[in-house]
Amino acid sequence: MIKISGFPTKATLNGVVWRVKYVDDMRDVDVDGKDRMFGQICYELNEIRVFRGKRSKSDIDHTLIHEFLHAFLRYHGGDDPYLKAKDEEKFINALTAFLQTASLSGSN
Ligand SMILES: [Zn+2]
Repeated sequence: MIKISGFPTKATLNGVVWRVKYVDDMRDVDVDGKDRMFGQICYELNEIRVFRGKRSKSDIDHTLIHEFLHAFLRYHGGDDPYLKAKDEEKFINALTAFLQTASLSGSN
C-alpha cells in the first residue's frame, strides 16, 4: 500500500520534518549503543536512524514505516497515553505489516 522510493533522508509528518539517517553498524542506531536495533526514533533531534547493512529494501522500508508510526502516535496521543510501550510495539508492528501489504482497489 505504501510505496517508498529509494532511501528517503527527510520525512514530514504534520509539518514536522524528520531527518532519516542510515547506518551500517547497529550500534549507531541506538544512542545508548545497544546492539540489535533496526531502527530508532529520536524525538529530541527529530531524527530517525535506520540500520541498513545488507538488509533488503522491503525490510528497511518496514523499519522506516515503523519508526514513522511512533512519530504519528506521539503526535496524536502525546506520550503514549493509550498503549503501554510493549503494546505500542505490537500495535505498530501489526500496522506496519498492514500498510506494507494491504492492497485496495476498486472502480468508479
Ligand atoms: Zn518501535
